[in-house]
Formats: sequence, structure tokens, C-alpha cells
Amino acid sequence: MARLTPHANNYVLIILDSCRYDSFIEARPRVMRRLGDVEQRWSYASWTAPSHYNLLSGLLPHNSPKQVFASDYYKRDFLKFSERLGLEGITFKSLIPTLYFPVFLKETLGYRTHAMVSLPVLNPRTVLNHGFDTYRLMDKHNDMRAMVREMRFTEDKPSFYLLNVGETHYPYALPDEPPENWPRISGVHGVFKHLDDEMVGGQLKTSTDAFFSRTKMRDLRDRQVKAVKYLDGVMEELFDIVPNNTYITITADHGELFGEAGYFGHGPIQHKKVLEVPFLEGKLR
Ligand SMILES: [Zn+2]
Repeated sequence: MARLTPHANNYVLIILDSCRYDSFIEARPRVMRRLGDVEQRWSYASWTAPSHYNLLSGLLPHNSPKQVFASDYYKRDFLKFSERLGLEGITFKSLIPTLYFPVFLKETLGYRTHAMVSLPVLNPRTVLNHGFDTYRLMDKHNDMRAMVREMRFTEDKPSFYLLNVGETHYPYALPDEPPENWPRISGVHGVFKHLDDEMVGGQLKTSTDAFFSRTKMRDLRDRQVKAVKYLDGVMEELFDIVPNNTYITITADHGELFGEAGYFGHGPIQHKKVLEVPFLEGKLR
């Protein structure tokens, strides 16, 4: 049985919503790289809600290992939590029966548990809000800096934070960009009337102006790359406030399609790029 020790780490899990692996690489985030090397990993799900459920079950994006049983992979993957939390003896069995990481952190290990989420599909009334001391849907869907300003760490107990970051989600808008300037996609526009619909994605209608579509898709992808660059600056503010004994994981809940095979977005899409995500973690060095 894992026990809390004075050396337990704070743990911050940052989910860049919809951030594609190659967008992340192209942005060359200098600050985030301080945590470690960027890995190409695979999400278990193609859209936000099931993916966050999976992440909070303690199963972070996988590296698609071959010739290994899933149960062995889970066991091995969970051992990593001993390093993340700075605690010995954390196994997949530790989570039985809830199989939900925030409950384990709070009730077994005595962590303070907090979630700040950007996408309304993850709102506090959903089942995801289980085992959290605080769980907040942020006022804006795209303002990680507002989250960082609310984070508090105390000496008496370690803290766990889940941050669901929305700048990398469609329409890839930074907090100071007026909504009237956000891009609109013809053909699938109706799907985006409300960000909280979240069931974004699907196959684009065949356009009579294919060149325009390609340009538009490239522009959207560039916006996501810019969002990652911007977030690298916000990450510096986060790194400045976390105590030394803080372990940070940065990844995405799923990828995004920018016109490949006629798809845009994520969700009801079967394509490699909707599952391909960046993954890096560590303590600050
Ligand atoms: Zn998402």
C-alpha cells in the first residue's frame, strides 16, 4: 500500500486540448522542453470526454508497444506513478475499486485535488468530477494564464492539479483575440455554433474551391502551432510558481485533423492524426 511521505511530489497534469504531435514539434517550445524530451504517443480516445476519463484513470497516452499483453503494459505504465508522485509502491491495484486517480490521490494518499477545465463538455456536473476538492470550468475556454494565477501549493499536503487547456482547441484563439476575428469554417460551421457542442469534427464537404480549403486548413494548423508557442510563455509563469518537488506531465487528449483524408477536427474520425499526441514529463531541470 502506498503511503504519503514528506517527500511526496505535487503533481500537475496538463492537457493541451486537441494538440497534435506535429503542431507541438513545429512550435519548438523551449520552456516546456525543460521537463524532458518530447515523445510521440497515442491517445486512447478521439475526443475530449472519454479521453479525460481515461487520463484520470491513470492511463496516460501510450506508445503502442508491440508483443506485450495490455495487462503487462498497464502494470509497467503504473510504476511510473511512483516516480511522478515520489512514492513507492503505486500499482494498478492501488486504484481498485474506483479505478479513478483523483479518488486515490485524495482518499488514500491525502493529496489536495483540483481541476481547472476549459471545455464545457468537462464541466463540474459531469461524472469526471469525482475525488476532486475543487473542480472548476473556467470563464474563458482559452486562458491558461487565468488557471496559473489561481494555483496554490501548501507545505502541509501535496497537491494534484488537472489543467485542461483550451488555446489549442478550435478555433485556436489566444485570450486577447476578439471572437469576431476567430476563423469560421464553411461547410462545418454549424457544428461550431457553440463551443460546448464539442462534437467537433467530421468529413468536410467537397468544396468547389479545393485550393481555398487547403489554404484554410493550413491557416488553422498554423494557428494551433502559434497557440503552442504562446502557451510556452504561460508555462514559464507556471514553472516559476511551482515548488521544487513538483512533477509535471504535458500531453494532449487527442489530436486534430486539418484536411487530411477530407477530415477536420476530432471526434467521429478514424485517422492516425486524431490519436497522435505529444507527451513529455519530469521535474524542472
Ligand atoms: Zn479535447
